[in-house]
Amino acid sequence: LLLAYDPAKRLARLHINLNNSLVGVRLMYELIDDVPVLKDVPGAIELEVSRGEIRFDDVHFSYGESTALKGLTLTAKAGQTTALVGASGAGKSTLFSLIERFYDPQQGRISIDGQDITQVTLVSLRAQIAFVTQDTFLFDGSLRDNISVGRPEASEAEIVQAAKDANAHDFILAQPGGYDGPVGEGGGNLSGGQRQRIAIARAMLRNAPILLLDEATSALDAESEAKVQSALLRLMKGRTTLVIAHRLATVRDADQLHVMDAGRRIESGTHDSLYAEDGIYRRLCDLQFRDNRKPSEA
Ligand code: ADP
Ligand code: MG
Repeated sequence: LLLAYDPAKRLARLHINLNNSLVGVRLMYELIDDVPVLKDVPGAIELEVSRGEIRFDDVHFSYGESTALKGLTLTAKAGQTTALVGASGAGKSTLFSLIERFYDPQQGRISIDGQDITQVTLVSLRAQIAFVTQDTFLFDGSLRDNISVGRPEASEAEIVQAAKDANAHDFILAQPGGYDGPVGEGGGNLSGGQRQRIAIARAMLRNAPILLLDEATSALDAESEAKVQSALLRLMKGRTTLVIAHRLATVRDADQLHVMDAGRRIESGTHDSLYAEDGIYRRLCDLQFRDNRKPSEA
């Protein structure tokens, strides 16, 4: 059994030339050849998302010998922002991989609006989810193609609107070739903040009701940071967002935080309520955000 480390991240790093062909995002998943591709169960139905509530009920998951989730129970409420915090190895990325069904739990249940995700088609599941990370997959094509891969049938006006909403339009126009300019291999012609905004534009265009966001750990310059943050806020609006939070601003603004430790949820609440409890969260928070707390947030 071959298990890839963090398939979503591996996918993001893939460098392939799609010959500018317009492929659906779901096709990209099929390009990872060493991740076991789950099959639809016989009679699988289409996932119907009405509200977008995600529930984990007593979920257990191991990568072979290595146990990642040990009875995880939590809810991401519809239309809200739910932040996941926890030390490295707590199981946060695994939780994302299970929502996307790169793997199925050995025990327990994950449901979206009451539908067990193992019983729906993979295509219908992934069509409802947008995944944004600091190293989101950019292929060696034009800026336009890298945005429109979110929804190949989108019109020019929709692509430009998505780029504007992602604070990407202005820098795209300033690039040689504008929307037709090349992103370079792996997005090499762009800065980190620009790559993130292309990823956000793509997700804007996909307009999926569920957003999985793995925040950047590496620092951007202040201007880029502000542009990425305001674009993300626009993207998150009205969606069920699960965010692996590395920024104090995100945890402060989240509707609900779940603190994970060793594959379980150990505390939940808002930043203020958890901080006041003086428990694990407070210690984690002081450690994690001590160095990047800006004076305005102190
Ligand atoms: P986090 O994202 O919170 O840092 P992960 O979900 O990446 O945590 O990891 C949870 C646990 O599962 C860790 O002990 C990690 O070493 C293990 N793990 C993650 N991915 C794999 C894998 N592909 N193969 C084996 N063990 C893994
Ligand atoms: Mg992780």
